[in-house]
Amino acid sequence: MGALAIRNIHKTYNDTVHILKGIDLEIEAGEFLILVGPSGCGKSTLLSMIAGLDHPTSGSIHIGERDVTNLPSKDRDIAMVFQSYALYPNMTVAQNIAFGLEIRKVPKAERQAAVDRVSAMLQIGHLLDRKPGQLSGGQRQRVAMGRALARDPKLFLFDEPLSNLDAKLRVEMRAEIKLLHQRTKTTTVYVTHDQVEAMTLGDRIAVMKDGLVQQFGTPAQIYNRPANRFVAEFIGSPAMNMVDAQRTGEALTAHGVELAITDAQRAAVQAHGSAELVYGLRPESISFAATGLPGTLSMIEPTGPETYATVDTPAGQLTARVPGVLQASVGDAVHLQWSAEQSHLFDRTSGTRVG
Ligand code: ADP
Ligand code: MG
Repeated sequence: MGALAIRNIHKTYNDTVHILKGIDLEIEAGEFLILVGPSGCGKSTLLSMIAGLDHPTSGSIHIGERDVTNLPSKDRDIAMVFQSYALYPNMTVAQNIAFGLEIRKVPKAERQAAVDRVSAMLQIGHLLDRKPGQLSGGQRQRVAMGRALARDPKLFLFDEPLSNLDAKLRVEMRAEIKLLHQRTKTTTVYVTHDQVEAMTLGDRIAVMKDGLVQQFGTPAQIYNRPANRFVAEFIGSPAMNMVDAQRTGEALTAHGVELAITDAQRAAVQAHGSAELVYGLRPESISFAATGLPGTLSMIEPTGPETYATVDTPAGQLTARVPGVLQASVGDAVHLQWSAEQSHLFDRTSGTRVG
């Protein structure tokens, strides 16, 4: 059994609102699991059940060898960091960090050692005598992490811990959390709605929508082979281009334009029950060339290191993501190329991956 196993979890409120609809996940010791999905999909609800702050309507949760489904939070050996860090305003940083140990009756010398250890790790040693009100947002966030880290728990749980920070600090803290995990290898479940946080932090990612896991895999699996249209469009920025396409004899077409597909995709399209598909292409899969699909540049968005260029083509609108500065203007006639291997096919109705 893995470090954390979630078995067929359902959660219903008032017998009517079905929030979680059968969640199964299992991770190994030391893994960093991401729960990602749009707001309201049930991430926090699932995390609070792992934490023992709420209980599932049915299903079970196992931490290591133990079935913890009915155990109170304090007996689960977990530590949590939330979006609102909720530090004790009248305690110093050192007291905040040590508080969890104190209520567990850990001896003073051991508490002191834990404060020294985590404050060194988080580089907050110079802040130990301050009160939370005298700290910046990023420092407060670090203290909240320190409070969790002081415990050396079986499981770390994070619920959107960076979403209150400004963009620059968020990126810095993200890197720190990554380094921290590389060092401590504590099994972690981390909730976020931010797909970049998901991709950069996760060993494995569970993409959730409407109380169900849409796909569970490594960042590379999720990105390179999304299981359905929702995952394909949720992960990646700019989002994957999606063009409505039809099986037309041996070919796949969009508004009469034949779309490049591999032999394996051609076989999958022929075998598929419906002729109505969606053809997906990531913006970075598309490049400008002397020949290829003709189109007209309709928008240019320079970001510095790369440019997003939107092109109106007979097959539909496509956004390309090209390196550097694009030497072109809106209204220019251009040609786009990509390789069939880079394309993704989904069923138009169900959204399920076809090839
Ligand atoms: P997320 O963290 O993914 O944004 P949540 O897990 O917080 O989503 O919430 C999932 C859904 O459950 C939301 O639609 C929310 O309104 C609903 N919900 C959460 N708690 C309760 C509750 N106590 N009673 C009824 N509905 C709830
Ligand atoms: Mg939430």
